[in-house]
Amino acid sequence: MGANDLQQTITLHRPAKPVTPQGLWSVEAIQSLLDKPLMDLLFEAQTVHRQHFPEGDIELATLLSVKTGGCPENCGYCPQSAEFDTGVKAQKLMEVDEVLRAAQAAKEAGATRFCMGAAWRAPKDRDVEKVAVLIEAVKGLGMQTCATLGMLEPHHAHQLKAAGLDYYNHNLDTAPEYYTDIVDTRSYQDRLDTLANVRSAGISVCCGGIVGMGEQPVHRAGLIAQLANLNPYPESVPINSLVRVPGTPLADSEPVDPFDFVRIIAVSRITMPTARVRLSAGRQQMGDAVQALCFMAGANSIFYGDKLLVTGNPDVEADVQLLRKLGLQSRRTTATEEAGACA
Ligand code: SF4
Repeated sequence: MGANDLQQTITLHRPAKPVTPQGLWSVEAIQSLLDKPLMDLLFEAQTVHRQHFPEGDIELATLLSVKTGGCPENCGYCPQSAEFDTGVKAQKLMEVDEVLRAAQAAKEAGATRFCMGAAWRAPKDRDVEKVAVLIEAVKGLGMQTCATLGMLEPHHAHQLKAAGLDYYNHNLDTAPEYYTDIVDTRSYQDRLDTLANVRSAGISVCCGGIVGMGEQPVHRAGLIAQLANLNPYPESVPINSLVRVPGTPLADSEPVDPFDFVRIIAVSRITMPTARVRLSAGRQQMGDAVQALCFMAGANSIFYGDKLLVTGNPDVEADVQLLRKLGLQSRRTTATEEAGACA
């Protein structure tokens, strides 16, 4: 049997559209993908991946915490919540020169997207004005811009779009049924409302979740269903493996099995074929072999730089070496590339 025959066989063994009568992915359909034999799942994900990303390049995105700590929300995984004693010191919004220096360094190291994170529940008018200045400055370097600032009102989303914001990150974290176990200072619907405001303003959506927070398999399937059923699904899908920070309520969570993590990447690729699926937090604990399996499963974006907000990340040289060893090219964008052109 040739590769094409095998590909057809795998396609035929799966219902053409495993969806609900409303045309959505059901949690059961996603669960059955997650449960497939690993090699079949990897083959299917890689097949989908090559159809949509024939160049197979890896996007490098750098994330900077521009306003750290003191957040009034109580996300159980986050060391920046004011409710938890994690040793993270609150810092005010960084000055534009400092942010620009970090963005320039990220660009010189090969990053094409620069994401700015601020630990707010929701930015106030004056915060949005200041972040708009940061976005304009970073955009001026010819990089794609992304921000994650908490809940966003429609007029704030429009203001950020006018400043040149390409992407807004706002994760759904987990399935709706498990959400109140993780955070209870806001609702799942609050998250969906912000995502709708971002879309309405014409900003591309970066939205994913975290695994390893004590969730059940059905919650992982439920998270992917939520993401894949957004209309349209996000252009960027960061999948995080929990970094267990002492002092947070989830510090003692059971680590996620590496193969289960690979499965989640693969099913994200299959259900959101044109999204950039980002291997996000937790890479430091994964090792090169698991990361390579994640790339095989369809991950094609990484956070790049030795820090992720306030937790660790593999250093730049280690990432350069890993991509080289695997024969993977990093994605190149130019200043003239269209905003939000993440394939
Ligand atoms: S994840 Fe964001 S909203 Fe939640 S506590 Fe941390 S900084 Fe605040």
